[in-house]
Parts: sequence; C-alpha cells; structure tokens
Amino acid sequence: MAALTRLSKSSFSSLSSLSSVSRISRSLYSGFAPDTSSHGATSYSPRLGSTPNLAVKDTKDRSVQWVFLGSPGVGKGTYASRLSNLLGVPHIATGDLVREELASSGPLSQELSEIVNQGKLVSDEIIINLLSKRLEAGGAKGELGFILDGFPRTIRQAEILEGVTEIDLVLNLKLREDVLLEKCLGRRTCSQCGGNFNVASINVKGANGHPAISMAPLLPPAHCMSKLVTRADDTEEVIKHRIHVYNEKSRPVEEFYRSRGKLLEFDLPGGIPESWPKLLEALNLDDYKEKQSAAA
Ligand SMILES: [Zn+2]
Repeated sequence: MAALTRLSKSSFSSLSSLSSVSRISRSLYSGFAPDTSSHGATSYSPRLGSTPNLAVKDTKDRSVQWVFLGSPGVGKGTYASRLSNLLGVPHIATGDLVREELASSGPLSQELSEIVNQGKLVSDEIIINLLSKRLEAGGAKGELGFILDGFPRTIRQAEILEGVTEIDLVLNLKLREDVLLEKCLGRRTCSQCGGNFNVASINVKGANGHPAISMAPLLPPAHCMSKLVTRADDTEEVIKHRIHVYNEKSRPVEEFYRSRGKLLEFDLPGGIPESWPKLLEALNLDDYKEKQSAAA
C-alpha cells in the first residue's frame, strides 16, 4: 500500500478503490524497450535479442496498463480500440465514462449535468472518481489491464494516476499537422444513419526528411453519400485552434512520461493499412497473434 501512502494528503477518498489495481500491478510486461539514448525525443528502436514478455495469459498476473495520447483527429480511439481487442483488455475512454454517468442515474450524474450544462470543465476529482469506479468494477470482473484514452490530460492527473497504479507505456500518436488538419476537415456524418466518414484523400509528398503520407478516404455507402453533413465547428480556424490547445496542454504530460522513460512517440506513416502493422512492430506485438495461438 506504499503507493497510497504517497497520496495521504490527497482528498481523493475514492482513490482507495484504485489500489485493487495496483495490488496486481507487478510489471511483468517488458516487451516495450524505450530508447532514450540518442535524442531527447524517445523513439522506438527494436532491441535485438530482447524477448518480449507478452505471454500475459501465462503469467497469470496482469496484462498491459497503457495510456494513449494524441491530438484530436489522429485516430487515437481507433488504434486504442484495435489494440484493446488484440490484447483482450478494455479500452477505457474517460469521455465515454462521463457520457455513461450522465446517461445513468449514478451518484455523479446530477452534478455532471450541471457542469456540462454550464459549459464548465469536468474536474480532475470527478474524472478520477469515475475512473476509479470503472477500474474497480473491471478488477472485480477479472480484467487484467487497460488502455486509457483521454486520461491523464494534466500533470496533476498523471501524478495521481502514478500514485495508485503502474503505467507501463504511454503511446503518443502523432501525425503531421497539415495532414491532421486535412483529415479533420474531411470529417462527415450521415444525417440519416449517423455514420461517420471521411472524404479527405490525403496524398502529401515527402519533403525535408518527412516521408510521403497517403491516406485513403473512408467513403460512405452510396445511399449515405447525398446525406453527408459537416459538423458546424469543423472549420479550419476552429480545428487549428483545437489542435493548438491540445498541443499546449499535452506537452507537460508528454514530458512527465518522457522523463520516466515511458513515452513512445509514434509517427503515423499513413492510414490504418500502413500504420497498423508498423504500430504492432513498434510495440513488439507483430507476432502476438501467432504467439497466442501457439500457446493455446
Ligand atoms: Zn447513412
């Protein structure tokens, strides 16, 4: 319970429930080997001879406890969701937790709806409270790890999280800003079925040491095509502002994890078909499926 002692001055009484997670968190996952030797920005370099310990089922201990960072529009939720399916751990998005609580008659729903109706930010305390409840419920169901999406957003949140559970790896997904902007501008929703699509066809040439990036559009079926609408706040100005605000806020959090050798920067080389195999490689997961079936 040493982790909790560090938080003794904290007013987050609900944090005690997170200890159930820290109790099982003895880091057996060692597949990720950040290389901080050459330059300030941590980049992944495969270590020859290292044996990724991804046989999480065999350890009977726990699976990954990861955090995903990334600008709006980068596809963080998509990659977090895919990896959580692959690894069999929940993808916990704090935005979803807030929405679920709002939709429920949970103890915080009243307070939350007042905050949201007044356009205020949901406090660290509430987010932590929701997250700890979620992790506790997951632990009770036998969940062995997690991928956090949308948390922590601030150093304070990162410190609180560090005090109660171990984070193995923080994946920072990055995409060139001009591509990010184009992608955000290409977002469309079908006004009839609510489906999300992207009409941006991205084809930027490599220049100044940056590789070329191609991303195919995610086009809707023909019957949705004429019903596509653009979100009112998806204007170039608003998106640029959103990206700028994100960058300013995330920098200290990135630095927090970089200084602990836990930050893995990953530059998306394109859309999902190009990025997914490279991401698995960077995470030492490229032969994960094979390993699992071999062990079965
Ligand atoms: Zn439709």
